[in-house]
Amino acid sequence: MLSTTHFAVSVLLGLLLNLDRNEWVVALSFGVLIDLDHLFALPKYVADNGAAAILRPTWTDGPGFVYKSSFHQADGSFIVGYLSVGWRYFFPFIFWGVHIFMDWLQLAALEYSEAIEAAIFASSLLGIAYILYNRWHALRPESGPWDYIVHVGARLSHPLG
Ligand SMILES: [Zn+2]
Repeated sequence: MLSTTHFAVSVLLGLLLNLDRNEWVVALSFGVLIDLDHLFALPKYVADNGAAAILRPTWTDGPGFVYKSSFHQADGSFIVGYLSVGWRYFFPFIFWGVHIFMDWLQLAALEYSEAIEAAIFASSLLGIAYILYNRWHALRPESGPWDYIVHVGARLSHPLG
């Protein structure tokens, strides 16, 4: 699936697990950045399939399998499992597993993959908004959803202020 969808799902998961700063870096590496293997394979993929093939939902049609590093294969679970030892909840493995599951789901339901991905993306954004609003609201019990929208709007228009 698209990296934006992986990112949204990983952020939702990270909020649910209440990760700290270091854990966020690790979580996003395993949940999103493992797609960087596509970048390394890009020259070969385009040479084999043409530039238009970049827009295909999967890169598995034609001789495009080269992009998959072992982080996208079942045997990657050994490496990831090893690297996950010592982290609470074994969480790097969870983020990696969710990523692999999403990619698998896309291939398994290729006909509906756009609808499925849109649904996953939208529900992740809703979940993120719900969690962030509730955390904000817990500190300001007297304020409501509209105050939060104003607050977010102000933050977005003055991100540093
Ligand atoms: Zn992937």
